[in-house]
Amino acid sequence: MWGIFADAFLLPGCVACGELEERMVRGDHGLRLCQICEQAWPKALGDLPLPGLSRFALWPYEGTVRRLLVQAKDMPYCAQAWALRRAALAARVPLVSTETVWCVTPPSRRRRWSAWYLPKFVAESLARSHRCQFRSLLVRKQQRGNQSDLSGAERRANLQGVFRWRGGLVPKTVVIFDDVSTTGATLKEAARALREAGVQEVITVCLAAVE
Ligand SMILES: [Zn+2]
Repeated sequence: MWGIFADAFLLPGCVACGELEERMVRGDHGLRLCQICEQAWPKALGDLPLPGLSRFALWPYEGTVRRLLVQAKDMPYCAQAWALRRAALAARVPLVSTETVWCVTPPSRRRRWSAWYLPKFVAESLARSHRCQFRSLLVRKQQRGNQSDLSGAERRANLQGVFRWRGGLVPKTVVIFDDVSTTGATLKEAARALREAGVQEVITVCLAAVE
């Protein structure tokens, strides 16, 4: 446990590239970065609505944010994951009522077995900071093929009906959180499943968006 904290906060050097520098910079995101990574930190984004669905993106998927995301995706509790979580907490996320329940789009089968899922790691913390509940609301059904090899249209077709309501009390408002949003197809399908279950308002938030 102490190893995790040491990794995240005690080691000197830039959390994004490991570079040791005399003068580290602490930006608005609350992270200590070398000057190069600080300069490569993208400008905050904001509302990037999809047809029929609100979507809020903290940053574009580029520069230092992209670098941290790539590294944190498959490395449980690494310093980069803690850094992203800390930056997300410092960022301006739309205010939601404390009645709102946060959830993530369920991971693919392959990821489910690894027990490490970056979106959940970040979303749980954001939900707590908003005094909201985090719940696992959706289940992913078995899927054909690899989603990332497909075009936008193919993705949408392949995703149709892939999420199912898990059961239990239906909240009035839900925030679906994801790490990276590209076409928004996954978020849309998750939103559809939630609305079908009776959720009245669905808000989607992602760490980074590919515009
Ligand atoms: Zn750096």
